[in-house]
Amino acid sequence: MSEALGPVVANELLERRREQMFPKLAPAQIVRLEALGRRVEAHAGQVLLESGTRHSHVFIVLSGSVEVLLRDRSELMYLLTAGDFSGEMSTLRGSAAQACLRVREDGAAIALEPEQIRSLVQTDAELSELLMRAFILRRMALIGSGGGEVLLLGSRHSADSLRLQAFLTRNTQPFHHVDVESDADVAALFERFHVGPNDIPVVVCRGEHVFRNPSNRDIAECLGINPQLDDSRLYDLVIVGAGPAGLAAAVYAASEGLRVRIVETLAPGGQAGTSSKIENYLGFPTGISGAALAGRALSQAQKFGAALSVACEATGLNCAQRPYAVELAQGGALRGRSVLIASGAQYRTLAIDNLGRYHGTGVHYAATHLESVLCQGEEIIIVGGGNSAGQAAVFLAGSCQRVHLLVRSRGLAASMSNYLIRRIEQTPNIVLHTSTQITAVEGTDRLERVSWHCGADGRSEQHAIGHVFVMTGAVPNTPWLQNCVALDSDGFVKTGPELDAQDLAAARWPLRRPPHSMETSLPGVFAAGDVRSRSVKRIASAVGEGSICVQYVHRTLQEIPSAV
Ligand SMILES: Cc1cc2nc3c(=O)[nH]c(=O)nc-3n(C[C@H](O)[C@H](O)[C@H](O)COP(=O)(O)OP(=O)(O)OC[C@H]3O[C@@H](n4cnc5c(N)ncnc54)[C@H](O)[C@@H]3O)c2cc1C
Repeated sequence: MSEALGPVVANELLERRREQMFPKLAPAQIVRLEALGRRVEAHAGQVLLESGTRHSHVFIVLSGSVEVLLRDRSELMYLLTAGDFSGEMSTLRGSAAQACLRVREDGAAIALEPEQIRSLVQTDAELSELLMRAFILRRMALIGSGGGEVLLLGSRHSADSLRLQAFLTRNTQPFHHVDVESDADVAALFERFHVGPNDIPVVVCRGEHVFRNPSNRDIAECLGINPQLDDSRLYDLVIVGAGPAGLAAAVYAASEGLRVRIVETLAPGGQAGTSSKIENYLGFPTGISGAALAGRALSQAQKFGAALSVACEATGLNCAQRPYAVELAQGGALRGRSVLIASGAQYRTLAIDNLGRYHGTGVHYAATHLESVLCQGEEIIIVGGGNSAGQAAVFLAGSCQRVHLLVRSRGLAASMSNYLIRRIEQTPNIVLHTSTQITAVEGTDRLERVSWHCGADGRSEQHAIGHVFVMTGAVPNTPWLQNCVALDSDGFVKTGPELDAQDLAAARWPLRRPPHSMETSLPGVFAAGDVRSRSVKRIASAVGEGSICVQYVHRTLQEIPSAV
């Protein structure tokens, strides 16, 4: 089947879940789809869809066969025959197609527009389940096969290489990673793309565009990750931040018919997306990784038609008039009849000279699979006494030689869940150091030594350790709001009953009613999740708040004329 093409994509997931990934449609289902789509005659050699195309139709094969080709048509992923259908998550999202579809044997197919597929997954429960499962599994198989159109030449000691790796991984973009320090093919690749070791990280996009240390936005644009959207459109709800709060609001709002746009600086999932394993989120008794939770939530939001742009940072809120305008780093602004601030929080760093020098290579703020590979078999330090520090310690203890958990306080009881404290006690290679703080970090081009001081016994020590995980609480992502809404003394957004008469007077609150729960000092502007003052900093509460505030969004939209 594949001789003429070279290798068939080897994929363990494809083998294991072939029937769900490429299910055959039943005759009755094909009849339903035939009524919606357009019949096309397909001739051998004809390309039905080129990889990189934005507006990708879904084809249902009626007769003949169609090849699903990856990597510049050099590898066959699957041969679609009668009853099979094409498409994957990029179809729903409106991002560029990951594979090429080429007819192998003459036949016929039904072509469905992306909008028709979107409407189908919202209205036909049986086909929705079948299509959504297949689309999600196909994306997972693409990632697993290292297929896709991106080659990343990087080094584990380069912070920008790790940034790009994280951006691609967290945005579920399949890519092939070559470590310039260990991969045998690297010289040939340097020569082929006219680059050298000083240029890394280098990203080669679709075999032709070569970027030297590109920004995340360069990569998003080259790969067509974001859908092409009309930024002049008036949205019912503009959501800033695609963490659990923003995604939950997007799912509810879009499923209830609101026009929703989400902008996200980095990738869906927010802080939760960096968690190796979440064990206390309802419904996942064996735990779920942050990446999997984010992926599922995003698929759900896209199923209902919410539009997400990543590598897209909000830099301001124009609150002088309604509709409000969320200003973007790349220029321009999005107009929203209502706005949800779901920009969360980010980790505090430590006040230590030089620490920034090792950011991403020796100093980390997340403990995902990526970091666990980086420090495999090594001795590491985790700073912090909260749940995220505890989870990281337990997770990394599985792959690291020894984990030093450093906390300023005299114990963990006041700041960490009991189940995690027990796990830490039962894990022999985690060493807890109470009343202890890092005093210095040293190294040349990478972190090599860390000193710490224990206040309880006055001892100072230095250790040859190359990885420090800083997990010491968070500061809110609110500077972009430029004081448009009332904030508390720590910079978190005040909402509902939190807003006192003074806040409302200062904000010139114009309505007779008080602000709704989660409404800020500006009518129709809401805040949910970690960014909200006095919120419980947990995934479940962020999801709950994001979902609940949609009720209030509906109410405030009724208060204003629909043109505004
Ligand atoms: C490693 C780790 C493990 C954790 N484990 C657990 C756990 O097991 N259980 C639990 O309940 N909680 C856990 N938490 C806490 C939980 O992840 C947070 O409470 C939750 O993610 C908050 O969700 P959020 O949507 O409010 O904000 P965030 O998750 O912070 O998301 C905010 C998003 O907004 C984006 N953003 C910020 N500013 C802008 C801007 N100007 N423009 C556009 N986008 C912007 C950010 O990039 C981010 O994606 C963990 C946190 C971490 C870091």
